[in-house]
Amino acid sequence: MPLMARDISALIPHLKSPKKVLITTHAKPDGDAMGSSLALKLLLEQLEHTVTVVVPTDYPDFLYWMPNNEQVLIYPDKESECNSIIAGADMLFCLDFNHLSRIKSMQAAVHNAKGIKVMIDHHLNPSDFDDYRLSKSSASSTAELVYEFYETLKEDCSLNKDIAACIYTGIMTDTGSFRFDSTTARVHRIVADLVDQGINVGRIHNLIYDSFDENRLRLLGYLLDKKMTVLPEYKAAYISLNRKELLKFNVKTGDTEGIVNYPLGIRGIEVVAMITDRSNSGADQNEIRLSLRSIGDIAVNEISGKYFNGGGHKNAAGGQVNTSIEDAINKFVKAVSEL
Ligand code: 5GP
Ligand code: MN
Repeated sequence: MPLMARDISALIPHLKSPKKVLITTHAKPDGDAMGSSLALKLLLEQLEHTVTVVVPTDYPDFLYWMPNNEQVLIYPDKESECNSIIAGADMLFCLDFNHLSRIKSMQAAVHNAKGIKVMIDHHLNPSDFDDYRLSKSSASSTAELVYEFYETLKEDCSLNKDIAACIYTGIMTDTGSFRFDSTTARVHRIVADLVDQGINVGRIHNLIYDSFDENRLRLLGYLLDKKMTVLPEYKAAYISLNRKELLKFNVKTGDTEGIVNYPLGIRGIEVVAMITDRSNSGADQNEIRLSLRSIGDIAVNEISGKYFNGGGHKNAAGGQVNTSIEDAINKFVKAVSEL
């Protein structure tokens, strides 16, 4: 591995002959993680590469409709098969994350892999585990960067409806449906090109945002009514969710996604957290997950780095602590009181 990863343009010559390619993304993949991975898989297959997507954990079922979803391998489900694919890969594409710790139990296998490592990502402060890199924190999404990579490969591959649906999903979910500041004119131009491929944008919105079980809406109602604490003096609010409630509402992967954003809808609230007890029953250590969101200049990635062993973007970050949920809440209140 070179000290500094080279620009991804230098990778192009390596793609001229068929390669065994692994694509992976961060734990608990979201729309951008899955969309960018599946889009890149389809593009590289057009270049005659053999491509496998391996993800570190399960992901929300509202993403299962995506093209080739059935071919995605979930690492803990097929560890030895995945280990040999990772070890045998000529190239490993790491999408939508900037540090190997974000791929959890896959970390050692990917770290030890001999293949060329390529990072495509839009988080700040990438760490140096890669050989080639397309990393821009100004990009709305990793899916936008996969589109950019496609532009450099244009002579050898083309967009189609499936690829467009994957990239659209990534951009749509990471821009909060085209409303965050990251939604530039270029994003809209890219999206216009994707729509020209014949995707049905209404259907994609419906599949992603209107595909929950009844219990998820009841959970949302309960959390907003009973579990949201507003701290107007700090322009802050938080929602907490304990293990008893997770069981009561039969919460599954994806059910809590997006809920963190609701308190930002309160006038004057600028920084919010969703604090969830993800401890496994029987485990000797608590695991409290935090999702943080802000508007304007409040850098929640800095709060997460300082208090919650995490990071992310300025206005959207996450982290975890091994304390009690009450301690995590107190830490959040302390953090916002210091702003
Ligand atoms: P979410 O709250 O949706 O899980 O994550 C929001 C953002 O923070 C995402 O961009 C995600 O990549 C980042 N993020 C979430 N958890 C962590 C973490 O534990 N460490 C770091 N570095 N980033 C995280
Ligand atoms: Mn992303």
